[in-house]
Amino acid sequence: MSVMDTTSNFLKTIIQEDIDSGKTAKVVTRFPPEPNGYLHIGHAKSICVNFGLANEFGGECNLRFDDTNPEKESIEYVESIKRDIEWLGFEWAGEARYASNYFGQLYDWAIHLVKEGKAYVCELSADEAREYRGTLTEPGKNSPYRDRSVEESLTLLEKMKAGEMADGSASLRAKIDMASGNINLRDPVLYRIRHVTHHNTGDDWSIYPSYDFAHGQEDAIEGITHSICTLEFADHKPLYDWLLENLPVPSKPVQYEFARLNPNYSITSKRKLKMLVDEAVVEGWDDPRMPTISGLRRRGYTPTALRRFCDMTGVSRANSQVDLAMLEFAIRDELDKSAPRSMCVLRPLKVVLTNYPEDKSEIMRGPFHPQNEAMGSREMPFSREIWIEQEDFREEANKKYKRLVIGKRVRLRNAYIIEADEAIKDADGNIIEVRARVIENTVGNDPEDGIRAKGVIHWVDTATAVACSVKLYDRLFLTENPGAGDTDLMDQINPESLVELSNCYAEASLASAEVGQGYQFERQGYFCRDEASGSDLVFNQTIGLRDGQGKSFA
Ligand code: ATP
Ligand code: MG
Repeated sequence: MSVMDTTSNFLKTIIQEDIDSGKTAKVVTRFPPEPNGYLHIGHAKSICVNFGLANEFGGECNLRFDDTNPEKESIEYVESIKRDIEWLGFEWAGEARYASNYFGQLYDWAIHLVKEGKAYVCELSADEAREYRGTLTEPGKNSPYRDRSVEESLTLLEKMKAGEMADGSASLRAKIDMASGNINLRDPVLYRIRHVTHHNTGDDWSIYPSYDFAHGQEDAIEGITHSICTLEFADHKPLYDWLLENLPVPSKPVQYEFARLNPNYSITSKRKLKMLVDEAVVEGWDDPRMPTISGLRRRGYTPTALRRFCDMTGVSRANSQVDLAMLEFAIRDELDKSAPRSMCVLRPLKVVLTNYPEDKSEIMRGPFHPQNEAMGSREMPFSREIWIEQEDFREEANKKYKRLVIGKRVRLRNAYIIEADEAIKDADGNIIEVRARVIENTVGNDPEDGIRAKGVIHWVDTATAVACSVKLYDRLFLTENPGAGDTDLMDQINPESLVELSNCYAEASLASAEVGQGYQFERQGYFCRDEASGSDLVFNQTIGLRDGQGKSFA
């Protein structure tokens, strides 16, 4: 399957050159998530790039969990990540892989470096190490432990591994250059002590490799040809290369960096997303307002719309912000073509059709899609009492209001033209019911008296409608760059990002609405059945009918 577009980007150019020159026989990429949260839209981009390149060049893409920080990781995250990748439509090569499966090999390589005099056990405290490291403008100083003997370092490393040393009391560091202009080369930490149970290796290890010591070597073990990551790792590349040069690794992958996907009104940091979950700002990682893949899925976004968005935003080497409206365009454009039409009244007002016999009912028919006959049609029972939207009735109105008004006519979508006679009110003056009449012979026809209806409104039959809840969503953040500078993103939450309507009525055919299928509620927008609500009929609004929310038939 090729899901990438055919446009070029610098990564494709590099890969093509490597294939042409014979350097690369088969492209192997990998997607390396840390299982410390659910995947977000930025990860979708990385998935599309890595799997997309492999697919396009006839290669393979591995899924490798970068599980080197057991404190923050869990099986729940592992499972959610697998599900999200599969849902996006990609298949990883073979079994999922884990950094933790390579812990033994990585440890052997650590010993190799010590024996070569290229790594040592350092016993500076965290604070001291920071002081010795220097700054961007000041070189660092050599650790007093830097020149200890190979034997001493080996003995200490053994003790670290055996769990005999306390967290933070020592670390294994590469011996590179404390004066390097690149801080990553100032004797970086390769192993730290952590007495923590790991979700995969249990209590086997009380030392864990750093990201830098793990990543390139894992790439090499797996025969990754092109190791694609985001720009923040550019400064790590010299270390990535140093380790591959100084270890007997089975292959020599090359790291390439591209700009992170950074959509406005969103956050793409698992740490911050977790904060929203932990502080109950949202229902969970899959809250439909979250920019997570699981949230977008629950919201009704489709894999094709997400992949299209990732394609549209391109692959570049310069950081920039992309407009979330591009994603909204992608899903709206898709649902406009694919979503069956239906009617649902969100804020119901009862209309009694006084001239329609109480014991009568008819079946109206409406197409599932106005431009696509092949989608067929649906039946809509019609009888004396119907629900319409409260906002579709006024006692009086000017000509611009083309809905139901006393003494005026409106067409009910796929059914009769009706004319309103009277508004019934409760003791407080609220309109609780409208009395109206059907105009005879107007299903599919203009009225015989020539007095036409100006507008068309949606409705459902009270006798057969199904009760449901509808959740309307708006952007989660009020600001384009939530938490930018030293602002607090918690202060920028949109208080109206969720409006829950629990007294809605949908046409009968929606009783069997399927999770994963997008529906257009005519005049209201696109909706999907909420996957987390079980047998309760709850619909999530995916997106409005058009940018800026129009109110007409699409
Ligand atoms: P986070 O800040 O959310 O924790 P991360 O980079 O630490 O992100 P990882 O699980 O390490 O999360 O990411 C897996 C892969 O996804 C990495 O290769 C990373 O570069 C890539 N990635 C993460 N965020 C983005 C993004 N916004 N755009 C493109 N790629 C991303
Ligand atoms: Mg990371």
